Amino acid sequence: GLLQRFSTAAAMEEPISPPVQVNYTQLLINGQFVDAASGKTFPTLDPRTGEVIAHVAEGDVEDVNRAVIAARKAFDEGPWPRMTAYERSRIMYRFADLIEKHNDDIAALETWDNGKPYEQAAKIEVPMLARLMRYYAGWADKIHGLVVPADGPHHVQVLHEPIGVAGQIIPWNFPLLMYGWKVGPALACGNTVVLKTAEQTPLSALYVTKLFHEAGLPDGVLNIVSGFGPTAGAALASHMDVDKLAFTGSTATGKIVLELASRSNLKQVTLELGGKSPMIIMDDADIDQAVELAHFALFFNQGQCCCAGSRTFVHERVYDEFVEKAKARAQKRVVGDPFKQGIEQGPQIDEDQFNKILRMIKSGVDEGANLVAGGAQLGDKGYYIQPTVFSDVQDGMKIAKEEIFGPVQSILKFKDLDEVIRRSNNSRYGLAAGIFTNNLATANTLMRALRVGSVWINCFDVFDAAIPFGGYKMSGHGREKGIDSLKNYLQVKAVVTPLNNPAWL
Ligand code: NAD
Repeated sequence: GLLQRFSTAAAMEEPISPPVQVNYTQLLINGQFVDAASGKTFPTLDPRTGEVIAHVAEGDVEDVNRAVIAARKAFDEGPWPRMTAYERSRIMYRFADLIEKHNDDIAALETWDNGKPYEQAAKIEVPMLARLMRYYAGWADKIHGLVVPADGPHHVQVLHEPIGVAGQIIPWNFPLLMYGWKVGPALACGNTVVLKTAEQTPLSALYVTKLFHEAGLPDGVLNIVSGFGPTAGAALASHMDVDKLAFTGSTATGKIVLELASRSNLKQVTLELGGKSPMIIMDDADIDQAVELAHFALFFNQGQCCCAGSRTFVHERVYDEFVEKAKARAQKRVVGDPFKQGIEQGPQIDEDQFNKILRMIKSGVDEGANLVAGGAQLGDKGYYIQPTVFSDVQDGMKIAKEEIFGPVQSILKFKDLDEVIRRSNNSRYGLAAGIFTNNLATANTLMRALRVGSVWINCFDVFDAAIPFGGYKMSGHGREKGIDSLKNYLQVKAVVTPLNNPAWL
């Protein structure tokens, strides 16, 4: 039945040979590619097959130390915070040009390591990285302090200075975009960086950071350490010479890095964590559009989005029709080799996530949700999962409370606005929400009532560089992108001097 329909896609055919080579597998410290101090490597795997793409240097405590020393030197003595902001911006603009020039190679590497559709990487994500770099390059020479009025005869300046060495830890779902969100504001503000990539996806950051150096980035300003969380990641979070930590990933790991930061040197921490975002479908708008939007909100990027619309709340008057159409849409979803044209969904990132998603699907069935589409592996190799839809999902079920981070849509029924507000907000998370309605009053009420960091009205996943992103509640601390992201990377210094002599008054 279902398996037949889905497997018309390429998942069971021979994988397409990626149109790119892996050139960089070492750590990038102080402008040089180097082996790990231990000499150890780890394999990074092709999610289409589970086969090894390359062996990558495995950074650990000693490598993080080396990288922090390089970043410290580049900050304390080096040119980056000392050069003019305009010069910094020029380097970042040149980097953006090089990203564009190498767009297709970068996209192929991202797809190979991550499994996301190549067209998505090549047409959306890599161009978005260039866009982010230009956005932040534009900020570099527009960051300045203030002169504020004093009560006495004093001249008061408020300076905005870089914080110092920023440690950054990123996840695997959008390796390059997470790189851009983190590195862009840090460098625009004059900080230096040690970035730890996710162990599942180390390749693209090495490639683009090499280009950044070709654009004129001085040595030591941006260091890339590949490696695992409990070793390299924990070393960065607890390092005494790291002044600021930015983390994106699971809420559980966010708690750990916050604790490591507070137990070491109280470095400032920003966190972008999980979510269980509602996508609210009212009964007044076009149902086919609603189905398409809710489908996109959940299934985009194999369902591996922190802000995925993972609780599809549908008004009771349109519920049955919506479920039928959501099922049909999921069954039409084109799953297969992400290098193939027209593919909407590739494999999940790795075996752990694949197994976790299948366990979550099983819990949905066990707890009595109605499995209307999918529910199993697709094909027999790699980490492909059938687009899955549950109806009759209840708030107390695990699939309605916990992140699934996979292609599994949970549809819940509601009666009125008050009810859907209460149920939407009844979550530890508060990352994002989608609203679908033609009624302005309804949109306004929901937009104000929802306790989340992003509200998309009649759209979803709009991620322009200037739009701030981040969470309420256990979805995180601070905001990334937009003006708000700069605050994370600036210290504030108040400088007071008497307007007249004598100097000690
Ligand atoms: P994770 O939080 O474990 O990993 C994210 C990053 O943190 C990786 O670079 C990892 O190496 C690092 N890390 C892990 N343990 C660490 C530690 N003790 N100290 C310092 N750094 C550490 O996430 P995961 O295991 O890859 O995925 C699990 C879940 O996380 C997913 O199912 C999903 O719910 C969530 N997730 C969220 C996002 C997001 O964008 N918010 C992204 C990926 C995953």
